[in-house]
Amino acid sequence: MKNRKILSLCLALVMMFAFSSCTNNSGQTTESTDDKQAEKTESKDDTKDTKDSKDNKESEEDDKKSEEDAKDEKDSKDESNKEVKGSGVVNLYTTRHYDSDDELYAKFEKETGIKVNVVNEKKAGALIEKIKSQGDSVQADLFITADAGNLANAKMEGILEPVKSDVLEKNIPEKYRDLDSEWFGLTKRARIMLYSKDRVTEEDLKGLDYSTLVTNPRWEDKVLVRGSSNIYNQSLVASFIKIMGQEKATEWVKGFVATFARPPQGNDRDQALAIKEGLGDLAISNSYYYGKLVNDKDPESKYAGVADVVGIYFPNDDKNGVHINVSGVGLIKKAPNKENAIRLMEYLSEVPQQEQFSSANYEFPVNPEAQMSELLKSWLDAQGITELKEQDINLSALGRYNYDALEIMTLEGWDK
Ligand code: FE
Repeated sequence: MKNRKILSLCLALVMMFAFSSCTNNSGQTTESTDDKQAEKTESKDDTKDTKDSKDNKESEEDDKKSEEDAKDEKDSKDESNKEVKGSGVVNLYTTRHYDSDDELYAKFEKETGIKVNVVNEKKAGALIEKIKSQGDSVQADLFITADAGNLANAKMEGILEPVKSDVLEKNIPEKYRDLDSEWFGLTKRARIMLYSKDRVTEEDLKGLDYSTLVTNPRWEDKVLVRGSSNIYNQSLVASFIKIMGQEKATEWVKGFVATFARPPQGNDRDQALAIKEGLGDLAISNSYYYGKLVNDKDPESKYAGVADVVGIYFPNDDKNGVHINVSGVGLIKKAPNKENAIRLMEYLSEVPQQEQFSSANYEFPVNPEAQMSELLKSWLDAQGITELKEQDINLSALGRYNYDALEIMTLEGWDK
């Protein structure tokens, strides 16, 4: 019995020990697991911290970056606010590259304190793309280019915004403005004829206009002109579609192609040069190029002496009139400096600037109050023209019929 008691006691002790050991072990294990877990967690936390700190760093950098972005944005906003408030800037995108234009912008800057930033591009299409690529954060305020066809294209591409301005409406006759006021002509040019002073007689010139040019056998294989890809020619044909309809315009192009002295090539002045070289007797050219030829005093120039043997002729047809085109300006949609931009548009339409355009670049003013230059007057006087009879169309038509014009020219073999 005593042994059983001792055995029970031992058993109890063993169990207690075992329990206690188990508990301890378990506790220790737990602790160790916990520790490990804790360590793991800590180390994980460390890693997390490290990652967090990396994240923080990145995020700091991001913050820094976004702070910089915000600063840039703020700066550019401040800048544009500054510009909008007219303290001031106007960003002018143009395909014209004349010193005389720059002089006008410098004069505007001096008189108004508004700085004109000029961005140049040779081709109107490339300039339109540049403006379109600016999207909603557009920098451009004004678009200036030659030819109503190009201006109409800018309108069609959706980069222009209508302008309501009493000054522009007063200074620029309706026919030289877009019907929706999205662009305004600034200078006029006529698409005229240049002729060989040696080979073309007064008799040849009598009654000469665009129509008789293609019906009189005198001009068969004698006419020089540039290619159909040129907008000036497309606009010329577009004006005929507007005036005489598609069918008659097609007939005209067919007849005109038959007068070509050579496959179309070169620019307008190159046609005058070809007259000097005896390759043809008559050329189609914009009027201001004759002014450039007359004043080309560079003996090294390939055009030197061309104006001595080439004359200018205005097809001042009473019925259909001379083909007139413009260089013009449009306000860019969402222009950041709209107020300044409109101010410059109006400035360029005023008499002194109009007269400067005319004298410096041999163009005609669109503002009827402005005088054309003495040189231009002398050309008209020589032909006994007191008033130039212009085609009676709104120049918006040149854009409207541009596609049809090019199609006719292609089908009738203009470039062959
Ligand atoms: Fe030109």
